[in-house]
Amino acid sequence: MFFSFIQTCKNTSEQCYAVMREFNICLLCDMPSTAVICAVCQQDMLWHSDEQVQSEILEQLWVHPRLSHLKCDTLICLDKYRYPLTYLIPLIKFHDRADLSTWLADRWYEQRFALVNTLPDALISVPLHPKRLRHRGFNQAALIADRLSTLSSIPHLAHAAKRRKATKRQSELQQAHREANLTNAFTVDHHALIGLKHIALVDDVVTTGATMNALCQAIQKVAPHLYIDVWCLGLAEL
Ligand SMILES: [Zn+2]
Repeated sequence: MFFSFIQTCKNTSEQCYAVMREFNICLLCDMPSTAVICAVCQQDMLWHSDEQVQSEILEQLWVHPRLSHLKCDTLICLDKYRYPLTYLIPLIKFHDRADLSTWLADRWYEQRFALVNTLPDALISVPLHPKRLRHRGFNQAALIADRLSTLSSIPHLAHAAKRRKATKRQSELQQAHREANLTNAFTVDHHALIGLKHIALVDDVVTTGATMNALCQAIQKVAPHLYIDVWCLGLAEL
C-alpha cells in the first residue's frame, strides 16, 4: 500500500520526495534502501560501461560542430544527459535534494577520476548569480566541486569566478540567443589564478556549451595559458 502510494505520486508531489528520503526508499525503484539509490539500481546504471560511453562522447566532442567550439581542452562527464541523470539532476535543483549532488559526485569520482591524465591545480565551480543562489539556497555545481575536492584533495576555489549578470535560464532560450544572453556574464578574480597552470571547471550538465564557453572566455582573458578541463555529470545528447 505504502509503495503504491509512492509510485502513483512520485512525479508530481514535493512531499513524496521528502517521504522517500525519510523512509530510506530508493529514488529510482521505490524499494527500501539505506542509500539514496539502491545497490540493484546502481548496478544497472549505464555509466558502468564507462569506456564505451566515454569513447562515444569523445567522438561526438570532436565531430559535432556545437561541441567542437568548446573552449576547454578536455571534457570528462559521468554520462550523456539521459536517464537516470535526467531524473536525478532536476531533483537537486527543483526539489531541494542537494544531497544527490554529493551522491552523484561520488559516482563521478568512482567512475571517471582514473581518466584524468594530469591532475588540475584547482577546481572552479560554475557560479550562480547571487539572486538565484538566494532563491535556491545552494549552488549544485559548488556542492559537486566541494565533494570532488574532498575526494581528490584538489582545492575548490569557490569564489574565483562570479556571475555578475542575472541571465535568463539557458534552457528557456534558443541556441542563437544563448551566447548573447551570456556575454560578459562572468567575472574572474585573476589573483585566485596566480601560479595555476591547469584547472577543472565543474558543473552539473553541459548542454550547448554556451555557459561553459562564456566562463572559459572570462578565465582566458585573465589567464590565457591556463589548461582547462571540464568535469560535469551530464553531457546533453546531440
Ligand atoms: Zn533502486
